[in-house]
Amino acid sequence: MTLRIYNSLSRRKEIFPRHSAEIRMFVCGPTVYSYAHLGHARTYIAFDIIARYLKYLGYSVNYLMNITDVADRIFDRAKKLNRDPKDLAYQFEQAFKDDMQALHINTVQTYERASDHIPEMVSQIDGMIKKGVAYETETGVYFEVSKFPKFGALSHLSPEELSLRRFELCSTKKNPEDFSVWRKHDSGPAWNSPWGRGRPGWHVEDTAISMGIFGDTYDLHGGASELMFPHHEAEIAQAEGLTGKSPFVRCWLHTGLLTVEGRKMSKSLGNVVRIQDALKEYSTEELRWYFAGYHYREPVHMTNSALKKARAEFRALATDMENFRKNAHSKGPVKNRRLNQLTVKLERNFRSRMNDDFDTPNTLRALSDHVSSISELARKQAVDAHSKERTEAAVEQVCNVIGISV
Ligand SMILES: [Zn+2]
Repeated sequence: MTLRIYNSLSRRKEIFPRHSAEIRMFVCGPTVYSYAHLGHARTYIAFDIIARYLKYLGYSVNYLMNITDVADRIFDRAKKLNRDPKDLAYQFEQAFKDDMQALHINTVQTYERASDHIPEMVSQIDGMIKKGVAYETETGVYFEVSKFPKFGALSHLSPEELSLRRFELCSTKKNPEDFSVWRKHDSGPAWNSPWGRGRPGWHVEDTAISMGIFGDTYDLHGGASELMFPHHEAEIAQAEGLTGKSPFVRCWLHTGLLTVEGRKMSKSLGNVVRIQDALKEYSTEELRWYFAGYHYREPVHMTNSALKKARAEFRALATDMENFRKNAHSKGPVKNRRLNQLTVKLERNFRSRMNDDFDTPNTLRALSDHVSSISELARKQAVDAHSKERTEAAVEQVCNVIGISV
């Protein structure tokens, strides 16, 4: 059975080629100016499950996440609170890592702060200017989008649609669609560069970190779907414009948005549920079960009743497993054929579902069905020690990938 992953770039499920035993995977991390909320949980649990499954398949997963600690939002907030921006960013970085740990997100191998990679950013920008894909003005350095004809290939936006999505209004740019890679600032936090003091653009933070560690080309890049444009599109333009090598990333993965009553969870809308607060009401396992109940590409329309339903399903699973263990005494040397058949079926279902673009909703169904069947079976039939251990191991394997234990 081969693993197939939906690549946002081709908009198709593609067979994931085994280039090497190691997978280099980069996922866009948080901007640390506030506490993480359930929108973050949705994305990072999804990528944690993906990394866990890749490990289950035998890959070694080199999972890198950036911490955006250089951003106007952080500096603005620090100024408002009259605090040191570095301290503020550090506080929320720690809080984010605590939240990740509380959610059992333990596959990220390295976190890298943007502020620790400014020289790499400066060198990438310098390289882009030398290649003729970026230019300096009196306000900063901009990437010239028309020099990269593939711009729009990831988000599949037409040139007309792209021209409507103008961002970063600035009169010194050659074209409205050009985006900044460096902005000149005399005040506030700033770093030295050949173009004077200033700050890097957000997009170049990620390419400097990921390419500095992984090289010019790597396997997987993930993030929330809202980052596809302009952020990821800009990353591709910068990377490929600089190196001339394509693809920058072999496979792009995007998670569906979390909404509350049809609206995005965001600070400005006042509908934010912090991870810490959700964990006062639901256990880590209930939350993971809830999010795994949605395919990672699907949007999640969060409601209290859906959360409660997920809790009930998870508790039913735990109770069934408890009953199985209680009733499955090691009786007799004869192997329980029916139990072994059920176990083989679970193992097969698990791999075929997860190999199909990480289909967690059907994996949960297969797990629930299996545990319910074996609990029923153990009430009626004798179960030998070998068959019992084998099915327990199979259940545990699935649970490990989902990040729960029963
Ligand atoms: Zn990013």
